[in-house]
Amino acid sequence: MKETIHTDIAIVGGGASGITSAIVAAKSLDRQNKPCNIIILEQSSRIGKKILMTGNGKCNLTNKNIDSKNYNYSARNYIGPILKEFNSDFIIKFFKSIGLIIKYDNCGRAYPYCEQASVVLDILRKQLEIFGVKTLCDINIHSIEKCKDNFFVDCHDKIIKSKKLIMACGGKSSPTLSLCTDAYKILTRFGHKVTKTFPSLVPIVTNMGFEKSLKGIRATARVTLTADNNIAKKEFGEVQFTETGLSGICIFNLSGLVGEFLNFSTVNGKYAKNISIILDLMPDFSLDEIKELLYQRIKTSSYDCNDNLFLGVINKRLFRAILKSCNINPEGKCDRLTRVQIYKIASTIKNWAFIPISCLDFKHSQVTCGGIDLHEFYSKTLESKLIKGLYCVGEFLNVDGDCGGFNLHWAWISGYVAGESASYF
Ligand SMILES: Cc1cc2nc3c(=O)[nH]c(=O)nc-3n(C[C@H](O)[C@H](O)[C@H](O)COP(=O)(O)OP(=O)(O)OC[C@H]3O[C@@H](n4cnc5c(N)ncnc54)[C@H](O)[C@@H]3O)c2cc1C
Repeated sequence: MKETIHTDIAIVGGGASGITSAIVAAKSLDRQNKPCNIIILEQSSRIGKKILMTGNGKCNLTNKNIDSKNYNYSARNYIGPILKEFNSDFIIKFFKSIGLIIKYDNCGRAYPYCEQASVVLDILRKQLEIFGVKTLCDINIHSIEKCKDNFFVDCHDKIIKSKKLIMACGGKSSPTLSLCTDAYKILTRFGHKVTKTFPSLVPIVTNMGFEKSLKGIRATARVTLTADNNIAKKEFGEVQFTETGLSGICIFNLSGLVGEFLNFSTVNGKYAKNISIILDLMPDFSLDEIKELLYQRIKTSSYDCNDNLFLGVINKRLFRAILKSCNINPEGKCDRLTRVQIYKIASTIKNWAFIPISCLDFKHSQVTCGGIDLHEFYSKTLESKLIKGLYCVGEFLNVDGDCGGFNLHWAWISGYVAGESASYF
């Protein structure tokens, strides 16, 4: 006979969203003077592993400028009202109430004052301890069924019987930290749809890769994704040039739309025939100003060789790659450059176009596009419209955001909404 554990709320997945839902439900039960009978079921050896890796170990936990436009197009209308009610001030207040002091950087990204992701997890774990939330790690869920008013989570050696069930299983990204493929199947057995999944916040493979010599070279650029020559998304920031294409935060922020195009031939829900990524490597200069600068430098004898032409303006190795992409010999004499070639160099610096071929895989990505279809859940509670007492939260749903604290923000607030609702019986 398998041991049966009786609980009021079972939470599958001990990541940011699952832990938050447990704390919020426990606090609410405490306010109602009811006992806390909540359990977190986590497949890996400990809860919150991914939190430790976020923000390069500093945990960028929200952003001052939370807005639905920082999330995938298909979720925007749905999550807009939730984001308005549960904005960054709300989340910062929540963290303050449990002992975490927050600071912002100059881009509006919020971090714990001590800049340590591990402290965020320590503080969350402390709350679980204070309210007596149980955690079961190394759990292997075989199946989940609902019979009458209870869910039965079959974990091979034991069965968890629970009145409410919160599914907080994350996505497919960084599979060493969390892998939810089986959890998608559990939801489809309940009749829920899973939308197509693909990696986001990931390097993009383009028609042009770069030599190893460019490895580690970064440039600050204005980056534009165009769909059929219309602007689909603009970013500004650091770009990295890799052997297979482009990387860096602003490239990551375009990767969800590139994935959408490659999977559905749409960009922000609109049909598109082709897409390009355009880099402007000198956003403070106009095309004419760059041409003028090139002419001036050609006139001065010290810049004899083509690849010395923009010394001190653009990284030398990067400028060499620009010349190559214009079919200009980097070793050639710069006073032999034609007007057409000078125009070509200037316009490449201003509008260097790349065609996205693919995105790197889930292993390299920070977030998953797609997942359990959000629209089958009530937006005020995140309870299933199909199965009473079932909730889904976090990245497990088809919600994904930009880099900058938007994904953790969604994990905390969706956990908050579901945890609060699930605590009422
Ligand atoms: C390297 C990296 C850096 C990031 N940095 C940031 C950042 O700075 N700011 C930001 O906003 N976002 C960041 N993100 C994204 C962010 O971490 C996630 O979007 C967020 O953690 C999602 O929270 P979640 O609770 O939905 O899922 P997760 O944190 O993935 O948690 C899901 C949990 O469920 C468990 N699980 C899955 N299936 C099962 C199952 N069948 N049974 C039991 N347990 C299961 C998993 O083991 C995991 O512990 C980063 C992501 C990565 C990979």
